[in-house]
Amino acid sequence: MGTSIHGRAVVIGASLAGLLTARALHETFEEVVLLDRDTLPERSEPRRGVPQGGHVHGLLTRGMREMDEMFEGLSAELIGLGAPAFDVQDEMHWWVDGRPLATGPSGLIGLGAGRPLLELAIRRRVAALPNVEIRPEAAVTELVTTPDGGRVVGVRAVAAGEEITIGDADVVVDASGRGSRTRHWLGRLGYPEVEEQRIETQVTYVTRRYRRTPDQLDGRYGTAVAAYPGRTRGGFALAQEDDAWALNISGLFGEVPPMDHDGMVAWAAELDCQDVATLLRTSAPLGDPVKMRYPASTRWRYDRMSRFPAGFLVTGDAMCSFNPVYGQGMTVAALEATILGRLLKDGSEDMADRFFTESAAVIDVPWTTVAANDLRFPDTVGDRSALDPEPGAYLDRLRTAAVADPVLAGAFLRVVQLMDTPAALFEPDIAARVPA
Ligand SMILES: Cc1cc2nc3c(=O)[nH]c(=O)nc-3n(C[C@H](O)[C@H](O)[C@H](O)COP(=O)(O)OP(=O)(O)OC[C@H]3O[C@@H](n4cnc5c(N)ncnc54)[C@H](O)[C@@H]3O)c2cc1C
Repeated sequence: MGTSIHGRAVVIGASLAGLLTARALHETFEEVVLLDRDTLPERSEPRRGVPQGGHVHGLLTRGMREMDEMFEGLSAELIGLGAPAFDVQDEMHWWVDGRPLATGPSGLIGLGAGRPLLELAIRRRVAALPNVEIRPEAAVTELVTTPDGGRVVGVRAVAAGEEITIGDADVVVDASGRGSRTRHWLGRLGYPEVEEQRIETQVTYVTRRYRRTPDQLDGRYGTAVAAYPGRTRGGFALAQEDDAWALNISGLFGEVPPMDHDGMVAWAAELDCQDVATLLRTSAPLGDPVKMRYPASTRWRYDRMSRFPAGFLVTGDAMCSFNPVYGQGMTVAALEATILGRLLKDGSEDMADRFFTESAAVIDVPWTTVAANDLRFPDTVGDRSALDPEPGAYLDRLRTAAVADPVLAGAFLRVVQLMDTPAALFEPDIAARVPA
């Protein structure tokens, strides 16, 4: 079946997943309405409904590429707004398992755009689409369905203290993030419980912005220091717009980083790499530090539901929320929006089934990476039954060799940036460089 124009689409949540979804929907729907419970700021600043917005966000190369496909010239616009662009392998340092990966030109481009700036730039693009309406301060309270509950036809929301109903919807998409109410709504409609998968690492993030000068870190744009078994602390520095650093320290399993200057420096000084500590000591703060707890990566298996209402989809963090240290959430939201756009061009029959099945295949890759890495820590709570020790040992050797071999480091980073699947690391030309 080819493209046909449908009536109204409603999206719950106008954060990144909601905005990218609206971009995908606008070509096949006459009208797309996005509802968000927040006031949506005119400026680039964190907001209440996206509490992670004040924390450092890395946009993976793949995510940037997908977003550029959806919004022509988006990365150029962000660079024009001051976001630095850089070679992820050559102009940034990556400390993995306590050792730095070899540098070298990779062609993998990173973009240092703060989370609020990225959202603002995309929101402006989406708001400019002629058939899209973004309604702030409208909190969705429940789904409206046909009397038998078999099809979702709208939502009820509270806007300016009034209860409103937006009906006659041909599709409703839940993009309301980790706190999504869909499980609860479906339960009330008599649908089976959604299977939940969790990998608990109890991450706590502390981020603060600082003034950046171009000579710092020898002109590099960032350093990522990952935790590993035996070391449950990490750090991240990323150059951003407005000549700023976003500096982050993190702890696992209830280790809570301090928020005072001396405590932050002391914490960062214990990392294997001193870059974050040096930047903390030598840069002027631009605001207050922010803290956030993130208990677990969580995946809701809508793709495995035996029954699901027609006319309804779930996307973004509402479907799968990843340990933030891997920086995958925004890229996966973009990949899901791309899937939706493509599927809609083939018609809207069995949309939920097709969308959840294809999205699950895309989510499998980063989810498996998170699981394989996070389950190396003995304190991580999660299902270890599917872990295969064989590739784990090979990947350990690959990471060790990548300290001296820029080709291996580049191949590893291509997987981290979701440009390649982990299968690429097992190709003969890569395997030949990994010591036995
Ligand atoms: C600490 C932290 C750091 C992160 N770092 C990275 C990173 O480096 N790179 C990366 O790619 N990703 C990162 N992520 C993930 C990233 O923030 C999300 O994947 C991204 O924001 C997309 O999420 P979303 O749009 O699905 O949901 P959210 O961004 O959580 O937005 C949900 C939206 O829904 C609205 N909403 C909620 N309920 C309702 C309702 N009932 N009615 C109406 N509106 C509603 C909210 O106001 C909000 O606007 C990080 C996450 C955390 C927690």
